[in-house]
Amino acid sequence: MSTRENMLELTHHHANGHRSESIRMNTGDAVTQTFGADVFNERVMRQRLPKDVFKQLQRTIKHAEPLDHELADIVAAAMKDWAIEHGATHYTHWFQPLTGTTAEKHDAFLVPDGTGGALSEFSGSALVQGEPDASSFPSGGLRATFEARGYTAWDPTSPVFLNRAGGGVTLCIPTAFVSWTGVALDHKTPLLRSMDAISEQAMRILKIFGTDQGVTRVMCTAGAEQEYFLIDQRYYFERPDLLACDRTLFGAKPPKHQQLEDHYFGSIPQRVIAFMVESERELYRLGVPVKTRHNEVAPGQFELAPIFETANLACDHQMIVMETLKKVANRHGLQCILHEKPFAGINGSGKHLNWSMSTDTGVNLLDPRDDTHTNMQFLVCLCAVIRAVDLHGDLLRASVASANNDHRLGANEAPPAIMSIFLGDMLTDIIEQIESGSPKSTMKGGKLDLGARTLPQLPRHTGDRNRTSPFAFTGNKFEFRAVGSSQSVAWPATVLNTIVAESLDYLATQLEKAIGSNPTEAKLQAAVKSLLQKTVKQHKRVIFNGDGYDQAWHNEAEKKRKLPNLRNSVDALPVLTDKKNIELFKKYGVLNKVETESREHIYIEKYNKQVLIEAETASLMARTLVLPAAIRQQTEIAESVAATKAAGGDVKSLKAELDEFTDLVSQLRTKIAKLDKSIDTEIPDEHKKSRHLHDNVLGAMGELRSVVDQLETRVSQDLWPLPGYREMLSIR
Ligand code: ADP
Ligand code: MG
Repeated sequence: MSTRENMLELTHHHANGHRSESIRMNTGDAVTQTFGADVFNERVMRQRLPKDVFKQLQRTIKHAEPLDHELADIVAAAMKDWAIEHGATHYTHWFQPLTGTTAEKHDAFLVPDGTGGALSEFSGSALVQGEPDASSFPSGGLRATFEARGYTAWDPTSPVFLNRAGGGVTLCIPTAFVSWTGVALDHKTPLLRSMDAISEQAMRILKIFGTDQGVTRVMCTAGAEQEYFLIDQRYYFERPDLLACDRTLFGAKPPKHQQLEDHYFGSIPQRVIAFMVESERELYRLGVPVKTRHNEVAPGQFELAPIFETANLACDHQMIVMETLKKVANRHGLQCILHEKPFAGINGSGKHLNWSMSTDTGVNLLDPRDDTHTNMQFLVCLCAVIRAVDLHGDLLRASVASANNDHRLGANEAPPAIMSIFLGDMLTDIIEQIESGSPKSTMKGGKLDLGARTLPQLPRHTGDRNRTSPFAFTGNKFEFRAVGSSQSVAWPATVLNTIVAESLDYLATQLEKAIGSNPTEAKLQAAVKSLLQKTVKQHKRVIFNGDGYDQAWHNEAEKKRKLPNLRNSVDALPVLTDKKNIELFKKYGVLNKVETESREHIYIEKYNKQVLIEAETASLMARTLVLPAAIRQQTEIAESVAATKAAGGDVKSLKAELDEFTDLVSQLRTKIAKLDKSIDTEIPDEHKKSRHLHDNVLGAMGELRSVVDQLETRVSQDLWPLPGYREMLSIR
């Protein structure tokens, strides 16, 4: 085979076959044969379904048209045959409860035939609807108010896939999880609703500009970059904190950490490469288009990025990515840690959510184009996002709040908790000119005037990259960088969609009013010009291109610009149920009042549980691992003092060491007692409890940690009961 034949172009289609990005690979047949091999995708459907059924299913998938129930039986039968041919014995409705993970309950295809044999069975209704006994998932009081039962409903826009685990194969059907009264109990349902909201509002904008021909829907596109740590699995099992909390609660900084920055984009160790290759193979089989891999800033830290897809598919795939990384790592004797801050003093992990809007004919609405009409449209969409982030920065912040992410946001290695937008110099310049109302500057040979045909091409890719901004425009999409590495991206994407839908609604309403029922080109241009000017004036305070880590910015943002700075989850989460936010979710049909309240409740409860588990783990480790080791060390020093004295030696320095050490050990006892006391407070109200955990328990944990970490640098290596950062972070 020639090299050329060996080069494989892996093209990814999103929205109606529009070619968006492609990966070229030199891996020969393997990838062609495996990519999507475990997915009941368009190709398989075309082969296995009658033409008319195929067509109708495609309409359902691409244009969100409802699926005829009679067709479900035919689709189910084809799926079952395909799955059984691939070795599947079971099927499951795969869903995303509010725990932030995925859930499944397996049923066998087999049913006894009554004569001692078995039949394989899978009906349309089993495909379309399931009723898991899932009453133990958090519902934030939803099911107390409504119905105890929840059911799962097939989401045909996300393809069915095969899960291979433990030698078995299961057909996984992506589903939404709702109560019998239609209340959303999961992350997927509101995401799908928010995508409808975006579509409806963005279509109005397209109509205004006359760019809606052939377009039936506007989709949100998303691509989430995943950062993660890898450590040798034996260390993981030796650390109760990693086992229980996915992060180290103690650990002295090693002499060499990331100060040399030699790990970043450095060469990848062999064992890690083997893990990456295998993970990618598995992800390809599942149709997850992963593209890039590299080392990250911290030692032992890596990143994986997929090619973007329609948002709900991207979110499903992101869940699969997290599960696959964990699963495959174990096969290589590694542990994949997705926690936002597993190691103190070393960079944490995030998940950059790249986001844009695209028509189902493949036009990216955030891609600056060269002719005036689409340019105006681009600027309207851009201003919609700017306005949304300014008006609802609080919600955006709350959408990424968690006990884990609190260790990251606002520390000097991750974006601050203040939501601002990075636009880059070129776009900022354009925005400033829009604000002045009479754009005059000459850029790239054209006069910049919103109304004129001579509007120059906007910069496609701004050269400058700013890593300190939580929300950055990166050429043809926004990148929301405050998302946590272990978090499902469905919720932040839902919030982003909702707030942008609201802005598009506002702008469309204003423009429709201004151009009236007899729109002319001149009217439209004048209307856009004045509306954008007004919008920029009102919302430009949210644009910031400088260093987001700088204290001066924090002061300016809070004092001068009056941007919210919700420093931690305890401050951030309650804003979900602010009146304005309840109204917003309700207005766009994303969440009703109880659904919003239930989410706030669940997230706060989760925060409380997590911090308590950490606090109890810290106390237990300190008492049962650290203290005994410290006492042994103390005894050794004391014995050495006695032995030296008996031999007539000078014990002055030894004695000083003993005194110092004894003091540390007694501090350890005091700090353990202090932590235990702070944990041992009964507070029934979850809000008050979260406040107490944040203000008192976290502080007590910090004080305990500081003593333990000092001890770690003083206790003999053979007595210290835990693997240290030095061992854990050097992966070979
Ligand atoms: P960086 O690491 O510099 O942020 P990458 O190229 O690694 O950049 O990641 C960019 C991510 O953005 C990829 O996952 C890519 O698929 C995604 N992306 C690109 N275009 C869009 C778009 N229009 N909508 C959503 N995501 C996009
Ligand atoms: Mg990025």
